[in-house]
Amino acid sequence: MRSGRFVAAGRVRRGNFDEDTAYSKGRSWPVEEVRLLPPVRPRNIVCLGRNYAEHARELGHTIPERPLLFLKPPSSVVGPGDPIVLPPSPRVDYEGELAVVIGRRCRNVSPRRAEDVILGYTCLNDVTDRDAQGWEQNWVRAKGFDTSCPLGPWVVSPDELEFPLVVETRLNGELRQRGDTRLLLLGIPETIAEISSFMALDRGDVIATGTPSGVGPLRAGDTVQVSIDGIGCLANPVRASSR
Ligand code: ZN
Repeated sequence: MRSGRFVAAGRVRRGNFDEDTAYSKGRSWPVEEVRLLPPVRPRNIVCLGRNYAEHARELGHTIPERPLLFLKPPSSVVGPGDPIVLPPSPRVDYEGELAVVIGRRCRNVSPRRAEDVILGYTCLNDVTDRDAQGWEQNWVRAKGFDTSCPLGPWVVSPDELEFPLVVETRLNGELRQRGDTRLLLLGIPETIAEISSFMALDRGDVIATGTPSGVGPLRAGDTVQVSIDGIGCLANPVRASSR
């Protein structure tokens, strides 16, 4: 467990109370006494598609000329340990990703100034209904269903991290994805510049930087873990749809 002073933001529940940004207020409790909530409540979650060449190839896609962007709704976010509830679909995949958390409202950020607007980094699982992604164009169902955005366990400040960061995904303990940030086609500063050129980003907003190769299906009863060195591990059980 990281000590609280390394953590830029986190939210916990004790008893019936949500303690928003508990870490940033400088308060701390033993991790066994709290339930970790998603560390931020993003207003927008902006995601990059096909930002690792190997992953684009494994799905039979070409690498886009301009960055491929899509949104996940804030309602899709769940925290560490919360179940991913599978929609009724023949194939739902995990996608382990590094998430950038924005620290202040900004617009038209140049790549050179991008680090000024970053609060920190956390883990994200861009859970995807691969079947729906094949038949709908804008991915609302494929990427937006409830529980499709596990986020956490906490946000770590950039000054506590050493790049490149390694993103790993394990399914039931078995390593399935491994990528590092040197392989990102569009780097983090350029990504912030691109997105902020057409929309304002706000404190707590999240940018998902894309997934490395090795995506694969989830089944009820699985546990999926996204871990990043220096940040931590985001683990979620998988449940069947109640429908
Ligand atoms: Zn993704």
